[in-house]
Amino acid sequence: MKNSSFFAGAVASFVFAFAPHASMAQDDEAPRQVLFTNVNIFDGVSETLIENGSVLVEGNLIKTVSADAIEAPDAFTVDGEGRTLMPGLIDMHSHLCFRNGMLEFRDNYDQMAAGAYTAIAMQDYLDQGFTTARDAGCNILGVAKAVNNGIIPGPRIFPSGGFLSQTGGHADTGSFNDVPGDLDDLEAHMVGFIADGVPEVTKAARHNLRAGATQIKVMAGGGVASEFDPLHMTQYSLEEMKAIVGVAEDYGTYVHVHGYHDRSVNRAIDAGARVIEHNFLVSEETVIRMKEEGVALSVQAVMSLEAFGDPESITFFSADQKAKAAQVNSGAQQMMEWAVKHDLLMVTGGDMFGPDLVRQADNIIWFNDKIAKNPHLSLKTATSNAAEVLTWSGGMNPYKDGTLGTIAEGGYADIILIDGNPLEDIHDLKRDNVDFVMKDGLVYKNWLPDDNAPAFQPAGPERDAYFGLN
Ligand SMILES: [Zn+2]
Repeated sequence: MKNSSFFAGAVASFVFAFAPHASMAQDDEAPRQVLFTNVNIFDGVSETLIENGSVLVEGNLIKTVSADAIEAPDAFTVDGEGRTLMPGLIDMHSHLCFRNGMLEFRDNYDQMAAGAYTAIAMQDYLDQGFTTARDAGCNILGVAKAVNNGIIPGPRIFPSGGFLSQTGGHADTGSFNDVPGDLDDLEAHMVGFIADGVPEVTKAARHNLRAGATQIKVMAGGGVASEFDPLHMTQYSLEEMKAIVGVAEDYGTYVHVHGYHDRSVNRAIDAGARVIEHNFLVSEETVIRMKEEGVALSVQAVMSLEAFGDPESITFFSADQKAKAAQVNSGAQQMMEWAVKHDLLMVTGGDMFGPDLVRQADNIIWFNDKIAKNPHLSLKTATSNAAEVLTWSGGMNPYKDGTLGTIAEGGYADIILIDGNPLEDIHDLKRDNVDFVMKDGLVYKNWLPDDNAPAFQPAGPERDAYFGLN
């Protein structure tokens, strides 16, 4: 049964993920094995599929990838019936706690509500085949820890923690009559830090990293969804930005920045930032500099082309925010074309929440259809390219036992089965074609016919934790 309704889909996959199965064929002591047969494999890197291949998963890792049959008599077998097997998708710019942007929770809800919403958002990511999310700013550090500890189901999270913003910067969600030192609600709940000067930014960055942030997110210039910062504004002095990068480097990780125009983006690169989010109003010279210096681009094709192409449709934006959105839209197409032309390291970074939450793959699809016209490149932005940037978290990467973003021996068993071939038609990535989702060797979604994939759920820490078994 294919059910595209958000809540029904979320509930259905939750049941699949955690329902205890009736029979377990395997010895409890032996590592659990799952054998995928009759699948065409997109490994996240190659331009061609391995046709009619097999993949053997043991425990939470991929043990064997083969163009031939694999002998594994004790494994659960999943007959892929010619589906495409590929790495779980990676979204590099999530805000898992936002429903309709930063200001909605400040004005209407509390952090309990944000947390409950986050749980739904995470389940929906899994249901769409996104097994990893780099969260670009939220009070998400405890959630990421809880997912890793098997307390709640969710994608792997590379959390930035609360984003860093100067007074009047993109994450300043205070009110007009605030005086210096006033905390607004979002800051009080560590969705973001308003930090000025080297001592304050140093402290905020360290505060995130002590609680498990895997990289630091900094607001480097004016933004659309905020009230006090015109788009042309450059945020943080070079000295402040260097201090933040220094803290990140002391932890062996990196800084990614929100920036739109040449001045803010180049200052951030001068200071050592390694990933630019958005970037839509920069010149071709800046794109070339990014290529030369190995700076990655996190792309929001839906936000910049579709949503900001019709700002009136964003009902929670003020008139000023709509005008800023239109300005961003005016540069987006050209900048992304330059990024393809100069072969930047590009990753998909949806920045999609609220009504767009349920269609994260559209960010890959729009990038392909409007810009790249190259499904192989577009798929890499959500698989191997994204995984390359995730390795920049170095020692802060909590997932050290395997690789991500590829179907490769020794990689994590983050695997999805697609009804179709997205290398030929990128639209096959849409959630209704995502028939099977495995993360870390556990099954979170199973739309395969019963006789092809027995109603199994390999035991595992998340399932056991959910049922209070450990
Ligand atoms: Zn964002």
